[in-house]
Amino acid sequence: MLQCCTRRTAQNPRFQVAASSAWTSGAALRPAPLQRRTTATAPMAAAAPPKAAAAAATAAEPGRARDPAALWDEIVSVYNRGQALGVSSIAETKPELCRDDSLGVDFVLRVATALRAKPQLPPQAPEQDKAAAAAAQPAARPWRNPFMPPEPELTVCKVGAAGTHTAVLNKFNVVEHHVVVITNKFRSQAEPLSGEDLAAALEVLEAMPQGGVAFYNCGPESGRSQPHKHLQVVPLPFMEGQPPQAPVHVLVEAAMAAAAAAGTAGGGGGSSTSTAAPLQPLQLRQLPYQCFATPLPDSPTPEQLGAACDALLQLAFPGYSYSPTPAMASLPAGASPTDTVTAAAVAAGSVSYNVLVTRQWLMLVPRRAECCGPLALNSLAFAGTILVRSEEVLGFVREKGPAAILAEIGVPW
Ligand code: AMP
Repeated sequence: MLQCCTRRTAQNPRFQVAASSAWTSGAALRPAPLQRRTTATAPMAAAAPPKAAAAAATAAEPGRARDPAALWDEIVSVYNRGQALGVSSIAETKPELCRDDSLGVDFVLRVATALRAKPQLPPQAPEQDKAAAAAAQPAARPWRNPFMPPEPELTVCKVGAAGTHTAVLNKFNVVEHHVVVITNKFRSQAEPLSGEDLAAALEVLEAMPQGGVAFYNCGPESGRSQPHKHLQVVPLPFMEGQPPQAPVHVLVEAAMAAAAAAGTAGGGGGSSTSTAAPLQPLQLRQLPYQCFATPLPDSPTPEQLGAACDALLQLAFPGYSYSPTPAMASLPAGASPTDTVTAAAVAAGSVSYNVLVTRQWLMLVPRRAECCGPLALNSLAFAGTILVRSEEVLGFVREKGPAAILAEIGVPW
């Protein structure tokens, strides 16, 4: 049974839309900018020229941990500037809490009609269809990798212990302060995540005053749109008045408790402790779709993060190993694709799955479909928030229910 309640954000100045867009799926609301550690909130007057942003991107100091409060100030400052300059947009959205009793989860549903305007690389179409579609649009502007280089006005700074990644503000926002974490050198979005990728995203997540959810859409059915490797981070809570946790947090907690009670933890490892130990792989068998999670220790190392993600990937896809597609392998060293067809081919060749990371856990969900009916969904749906494009689609979600939707796009046990 679903119980829903609605509030229109545009009518409430205390609400500000705060999350992503091409999370063709989820969205989140959060209160007006948090002031706890934030000083950089002035809009146009404080807008630095684009050159300053580019300088900030190169001024990061590899090997030195960035102060989280300073990083958050930079994120807020660049976000404000992008909005003031009109370089980025934010959709008018409407939040709605929708309880799914079968899961015991309060999903945050959002309607963002402006998303209709967002350009996308159709991820699930066969390559020849993409080539035909590209050829049939002679008037369209040539494709450009939006992350090579990222737009200076949206660029925050380098992140990751060795400065391997860059934090960029999302161009098409549904919620504020939605950060995209891109690899500085071109890598394919089809690749599994490395420890460095995860550590760079966690650095951004840790900077968010109430934490956040980092996510990775990998593979043709995952909900991704860009072929250049990127994670995304959205702040918590997803809606004002909600706890600063992903709505599905309760599911991971339940799995940890069950594993502890059974004295075993998912992947066959034994445990006699009273709670699931950090880095133990868990199978969330109570869900109507395959879902694997690992509790994280405080301050996990890149090595721990990479190994945890690999372990979940192997649980989900036993024996899987990613091999670059011929298109990826044929790119000159350091180059990125320059046309839509190559970009699509580069991003192909992977199994499909979503990865979600919070301060407490890492989760991996295999995908069999990008869409359920009229809805396209990415990782954020599995965090507990779903973005819909119209009132009609909202009706579809209410009627079908989040659990049934996730079961349809996930993989049965
Ligand atoms: P995905 O759809 O999962 O591949 O994620 C791509 C993300 O990049 C989406 O959240 C987009 O809104 C965002 N995006 C697209 N173009 C740009 C851009 N030029 N600068 C920053 N973010 C962008």
